[in-house]
Amino acid sequence: MKKSGFVALVGAGPGDGGLLTRKGAALLQRADVVVYDRLVSREILDEIPAGVKCIDVGKNAGNHPVPQEEINEILLREALDGNFVVRLKGGDPFVFGRGGEELELLSEHDIPFTVVPGITSAIAAACYAGIPVTHRDACSSIHIITGHARKGKALSINYKALVGLNGTLIFLMGVSSLPELMAGLLEAGMDGETPAAVVENGTRPEQRKIVATVDTLAKEAREAKIHSPAIIVVGEVCSYGERFDWFERLPLKGRTLVATRPKASAGTLTKRLRELGAEVISYPCIETERLLITNETFENLSVYRWLLFTSKNGVEAFFEGLFSS
Ligand code: SAH
Repeated sequence: MKKSGFVALVGAGPGDGGLLTRKGAALLQRADVVVYDRLVSREILDEIPAGVKCIDVGKNAGNHPVPQEEINEILLREALDGNFVVRLKGGDPFVFGRGGEELELLSEHDIPFTVVPGITSAIAAACYAGIPVTHRDACSSIHIITGHARKGKALSINYKALVGLNGTLIFLMGVSSLPELMAGLLEAGMDGETPAAVVENGTRPEQRKIVATVDTLAKEAREAKIHSPAIIVVGEVCSYGERFDWFERLPLKGRTLVATRPKASAGTLTKRLRELGAEVISYPCIETERLLITNETFENLSVYRWLLFTSKNGVEAFFEGLFSS
């Protein structure tokens, strides 16, 4: 009987591999197929077991992303083929992630699915920039707003309402409309001195941030050539950005290291280096292969007075062989 398909819609978090949930990581280990897009970091993609079919819907031949309808169809097709499909999405699948649209077609066809929330960039990128999205002295709410208009439409943002909220405003997909967003807030009466920040590639080794004011942020971001993906944060909380910037201060921040160890044994070293702020590129240059230890060797073990092991691999190979002989 053909096994029945299943789709897990999994939030991959904002980039730092340590921010993938345990549930998401466990589902990746069970996947037959992984469908991922542009915002999923290399570090997370490296966790996909070898041999799993990976479909990149972040770009196609013309370097344009695969249209949403086609992504929905791919998920359906792979599930109907009986696969365990993991749909990996940057951040949280339901925070401007179009996760709901992907589930519609699946539910129409009675494909079983599960959804695993992810850490959204809206909060995590701010956190890695030293900006607590709420602080009792600074605000009483947080608001996540899209800075991207639907095709052919103007931005529909109620700036007056936003200015009246005494809240932290976080704009996603807002880099290209940054000047327009800041102008909208100013026109609606926001104080131009209000602190504002932009965080590019948040939580990743290449993260950059600018802390300025609503008056000056657009100009500073343009001069620094800030690109997507970036979040824009507006509110008093941005003023903590320098004092609480724990990420920039990590000892290996800004360094890029290449880990040449075999993939299986590079894990702990790589993890520790990343925790210290380094960008680690995994480039295994060594592969360990087991030599066949014959049963005869084990049968004659008693003739040896000493057994000398020269590595962890040797110990593992020896005992595995011993117990299966
Ligand atoms: N579902 C995602 C958001 C998707 S919309 C989430 O929860 O994070 C895409 C927007 O998310 C980008 O334009 C950018 O504004 C933001 N974004 C995603 N990853 C980011 C990152 N690592 N750093 C800064 N912004 C990011």
